Amino acid sequence: MALVLPMQSVVITGASTGIGAACALHLDALGFRVFAGVRRHEDGAPLRVRGSQRLLPVLLDVTDAVSIAQAAAQVHEAVGGEGIAGLVNNAGIVVAGPLEVLPIAELRKQFGVNVIGALAVTQAFLPLLRVRRGRIVNMGSIAGRVTVPFLGPYSMSKFALEAMTTALRLELDGWGIEVSIVEPGAIATPIWEKSIKAADLLQASTTHDALPLYAEHFACVRRAIDEAARRAISVDAVARAVEHALTARRPRTHYLVGSDAKFRALLALLLPHRMQDVLLRWFLKFPRRR
Ligand code: NDP
Repeated sequence: MALVLPMQSVVITGASTGIGAACALHLDALGFRVFAGVRRHEDGAPLRVRGSQRLLPVLLDVTDAVSIAQAAAQVHEAVGGEGIAGLVNNAGIVVAGPLEVLPIAELRKQFGVNVIGALAVTQAFLPLLRVRRGRIVNMGSIAGRVTVPFLGPYSMSKFALEAMTTALRLELDGWGIEVSIVEPGAIATPIWEKSIKAADLLQASTTHDALPLYAEHFACVRRAIDEAARRAISVDAVARAVEHALTARRPRTHYLVGSDAKFRALLALLLPHRMQDVLLRWFLKFPRRR
């Protein structure tokens, strides 16, 4: 376990459940003073029960400029001139569905949380990060390297987060602020159930004529998602990657987490795009081209 200096502070967004909650509790156990971003007061209570006295839930909706400013002010008041040692941009949602029929408002929602939200929070906390050469850790995904059909909106947002991570890393290098991205494969969290529910709702409310054309293919992807969810690994591996990114003398720029993520990243490196398409269609058991 890494040794954390007394009162090193870290801010995590989307800490109500899943990876964010696991990171908050893991970093708390390591001795960090954790500011855990939640959208509702009641989501902070379980964290307080499970964490130490140091762990402080902070109301933070990454799509709301006022909420971000208030959270930054609250953390600033708590840490004074010490600054913060880390920011983990973890909050994320999944928007799924065929791109042809996707309401553009849904794409805005996807990017609003996963990309623009992450940058807005980063902007707000950079003054505190700069004070002590804090680090930024973005929660990407293997979906930011390889794209799955019908998860286009999510994948687009995670590809964008990859670009944002690289741009920030190069731009902030002058201040010694390290910026890493964690790229998990399937992790057991509530996101799977939430995204299936959201996709069902979206389908039910979409009146586009072309939607029924995708029914068979979409069912194939759903089956593959169910299968991936069954094989999903524990959040602990992601929490350890975040720990490394925040504490290692030389953090990595990218952290692939899970054998599925590593395997898919390798295939993406080795195989030509057409070959990857063929393999993916075979894996998903897509019907033959009409
Ligand atoms: P969860 O659904 O458990 O967690 C998502 C978190 O994001 C929740 O705390 C949620 O809060 C929060 N959130 C959503 N919208 C906002 C918002 N507007 N402002 C602030 N917080 C918000 O899923 P995971 O733990 O799986 O996801 C965490 C991250 O990990 C995401 O970025 C996801 O893309 C990424 N990831 C997950 C993988 C997996 O297999 N689980 C794989 C690869 C990446 P609330 O409860 O209020 O909705």
